[in-house]
Amino acid sequence: RDVVLKVENLKKYFPVRGLIRTIGWVKAVDGVSFEIRRGETFGLVGESGCGKTTTGRTILRLIEPTDGKIIFMGKDVTKLKGEELKWFRRKAQIMFQDPYSSLNPRQTVFEIIMEPVKFHGIQVDDPEEFVIKLLESVGLNETHLYRYPHEFSGGQRQRIALARILALRPEFIVLDEPTSALDVSVQANILNMLKDLQKEYGFTYLFISHDLGVVKYMSNRIGVMYLGKLVEVGPADKLFENPLHPYTQMLFSAIPIPDPDIAREMKKKRMKVTGEPPSPINPPSGCRFHPRCPYFKAGVCDKKEPPMVEVEKDHYVACWLYAKA
Ligand code: SF4
Repeated sequence: RDVVLKVENLKKYFPVRGLIRTIGWVKAVDGVSFEIRRGETFGLVGESGCGKTTTGRTILRLIEPTDGKIIFMGKDVTKLKGEELKWFRRKAQIMFQDPYSSLNPRQTVFEIIMEPVKFHGIQVDDPEEFVIKLLESVGLNETHLYRYPHEFSGGQRQRIALARILALRPEFIVLDEPTSALDVSVQANILNMLKDLQKEYGFTYLFISHDLGVVKYMSNRIGVMYLGKLVEVGPADKLFENPLHPYTQMLFSAIPIPDPDIAREMKKKRMKVTGEPPSPINPPSGCRFHPRCPYFKAGVCDKKEPPMVEVEKDHYVACWLYAKA
């Protein structure tokens, strides 16, 4: 499958301001590389503050990257301007956790959906019919056309946000914790709808979540982030059956596993989640996970950063247990 998005050594640092000058940098994303193939869902997981949301927003240039390359459909996004940037803004969309803040409370559903359509100069013969079709494809209907966001539930608001995205016929959508504010029953409906729409339109997704069960359900491949870095990338089933990085093992051991075969396998590797992630302002030397790692080897792990190595086909890990020093 061809690659829709390629991220190379992406960095995003935020300044820590003192009274007079910058006194340090929060290295929220610090040299992340991965690619997403057409029609797949790439899941990004990690504890809060690991940089997954910043990665998603930087890729879309909602915040400007500090360094690195973002290649979208062959174009370097960091260099786009004018009409090309506008093209990118149409082709790459984001669905937020809280649709309330992204829907203008003073606009009707019709206006909310038509606004970006007009902005991008997309010609539609019959706007009303166009919007009704979109609403139907997300499980709403024409009775919702002239109502306001406050009249809808959280799940329905996510459907409206999705209809607005569909109106632009994007190639790529960042789904940033799209269901974590919703009830579990509603969550499943939205997730299944996202899967169905992906099948129908061939969308490519970057799915960001701290909920491992949801990520496993949605993703073809998964990247695990820790303190601004990717520590493991691989096919979703391989990652859950055979997590290689000690941090992935730690993270995955904290979730209940419904599949008994996988649960048995995991039990062998079960570790307790211990400690808090250190500050991204002064991350630990060498492997950033070393202060929490049960396999820590002094003189190796705290000295040099482990490289990302391919351990089995398409399954990569950055840990000195798998690389030669
Ligand atoms: Fe643990 Fe060392 Fe691997 Fe880091 S490199 S995860 S400290 S074994």
